[in-house]
Amino acid sequence: MSRDQRAADRAQQAFREQFGTAAEGVWAAPGRVNVIGEHTDYNGGFVLPIALAHTTRAAVARRDDGRLAVASRQGDGGVVELDLADLAPGRPDGWAGYPAGVVAGMRDRLPGGASVLVDSDVPVGAGLSSSAALTCSVALALRDLVAPELGAPDLVELARRAENDFVGAPTGILDQSASVLCTAGHALFLDTRDRSSEQVPLDLAGAGLALLVVDSGVTHEHAGGGYGDRRRECEEAARRLGVDFLREVEDVGRLGVLADGTAEGDVLLRRARHIVTEDARVLQVVAALRSDADPRRIGPVLTAGHESLRDDFEISVPLLDAIVESAVAAGAHGARMVGGGFGGSAIALVEADAVDAVTAAVAARFEREGSPAPRTFVTVPSAGARRLA
Ligand code: ADP
Ligand code: MG
Repeated sequence: MSRDQRAADRAQQAFREQFGTAAEGVWAAPGRVNVIGEHTDYNGGFVLPIALAHTTRAAVARRDDGRLAVASRQGDGGVVELDLADLAPGRPDGWAGYPAGVVAGMRDRLPGGASVLVDSDVPVGAGLSSSAALTCSVALALRDLVAPELGAPDLVELARRAENDFVGAPTGILDQSASVLCTAGHALFLDTRDRSSEQVPLDLAGAGLALLVVDSGVTHEHAGGGYGDRRRECEEAARRLGVDFLREVEDVGRLGVLADGTAEGDVLLRRARHIVTEDARVLQVVAALRSDADPRRIGPVLTAGHESLRDDFEISVPLLDAIVESAVAAGAHGARMVGGGFGGSAIALVEADAVDAVTAAVAARFEREGSPAPRTFVTVPSAGARRLA
């Protein structure tokens, strides 16, 4: 039995135990790692994520009493239940706000309400986008059940609004796009300004490579303010440069005008420099992959991306730097922190036969730092959101 089939059976079973009836289907949406292109998504720039093999599953059945009931196998075991009419930003609060936000966005199509059972193996709060996996699995379920005319961009938008407007988590469009649009064996090259995308083949295994994901165990908090600060700084830098989005600046030389002799000007210069150079790094990696170049060549670009996030964007933390340093010292071709920053995970591009050695080197470094051994796994570019059963 395939991994997907087993996951579907478990979700069906859990749904039956929770609600006493059968789900109408089971849908899955993956977490993601971004190969390169960090914090560019809200600057109209480029991103290059892959979907993880890890997914969140939503088992869903329509109801006829106008209520929404949601339960998660990763939650506290309780059911959150309320009238559709009572759904509003912040209500329900907590984790249930994510699926509820998607349902609220489709309320007029679903007058009878729905029961939703969630099960997931996407690490939560690790910068691997468990939140988008959750919203996108529910969005796809509702599309199939009540709104077949919706296209992939509509699903991305539905999931984004649930997260931004309903839960109040200020993410860009990267996470939801990756979860919906990624395909196995490819990275998704997405232009976040016009939302055009291209599937770029990325056969790491065929090249004898592996992408190692290391969860630092430091949980990030979007609400902690750092993410919002960076967004505001980027907006301010764009305003001073007279552009709508930093994406429009292609030459770092243009950023000099931000250095007005004040400390704030210096900060804005560095924030903008990260975005402008990061967009260039995405294009560099895409060009290399398109030209069938040895994927090892993208390693140093990843490490340069990390240095930019650490020094110019200032969103790394010591344990993420430690992962990158120890992985590269142990032979990784490149490594970088991924996700919003201030914690979460890092990736390392390594020879397939060096995964164990690099993992051991990172673990040894964590031990020296007095931190518990990090969770690690190897991933390949996997499929986007899909119906399992
Ligand atoms: P990330 O998306 O990087 O994992 P976020 O803070 O954006 O981190 O989203 C994590 C939140 O998403 C959790 O705190 C929880 O509210 C919700 N969540 C994600 N997956 C699940 C799940 N399987 N069950 C319940 N809640 C979940
Ligand atoms: Mg998230």
